[in-house]
Amino acid sequence: MCDKEYAQQRFAAVTARIQKAAENANRSPADIRLIGAAKQQSVASVQSFLDVGLRHIGQNYLQEAIAVKQAIRPNDVDWHYIGLIQSNKTASIAAEFDWVHSVDRLKIARRLSKQRTHEANLNVLIQVDIDNETTKGGVPISDVLDLVGQVSELKRLNLRGFMVLPRARQGTEEQRQPFAQTRELLQRCNQKYGIEMETLSMGMSGDLEAAVLEGSTMVRVGTDLFGARG
Ligand SMILES: *Cc1c(COP(=O)(O)O)cnc(C)c1O
Repeated sequence: MCDKEYAQQRFAAVTARIQKAAENANRSPADIRLIGAAKQQSVASVQSFLDVGLRHIGQNYLQEAIAVKQAIRPNDVDWHYIGLIQSNKTASIAAEFDWVHSVDRLKIARRLSKQRTHEANLNVLIQVDIDNETTKGGVPISDVLDLVGQVSELKRLNLRGFMVLPRARQGTEEQRQPFAQTRELLQRCNQKYGIEMETLSMGMSGDLEAAVLEGSTMVRVGTDLFGARG
């Protein structure tokens, strides 16, 4: 099968899953964006998915992201940074991306705001450590409220919502719990500060249906879109 056919089939399959999940949740599929989590995928693979309609690329590693970005044909693509953030990388992240999903401390947020020179503000999400795992990044639940207050004040950032990366769970009911918790946390923060964050970056290959049931507006799919990582 040629690259384009492969991409077409897999893109259609994931899009159909999102559509069905949206129907089951009584939501509009248009409210759920598909982010292709493209870590360790070749430029050719990413390009073939863009050619069949993918519009959002997620990257975990800055060098890889820049290489892919430079190699693909100019395209109407939104770039999402979804990996751990080292503070010496914030200037490049602020320059190269439209969205950052993984803000988890004030120092990083301040640097991103200061270093954003584009006309448009940088869209950011706070990554919440919903399972208290620490190794994956994310702010502890107990610190979310304060961090939201601080980040929402930063001039060059638009704080849009939360991202979570829960541990793997079996079954939709189990999977829904951390997503429901995240949605409730977002509502509490909106109320407390009188703001209107609307983005929930939740759900990957194994749990996107559960995430959509709990209000996800961005699913980050790697394996089930591009195939196993190389
Ligand atoms: C790799 C990755 C994904 C995609 O995971 P899959 O299980 O391959 O769909 C989503 N989000 C983040 C932050 C990732 O690093």
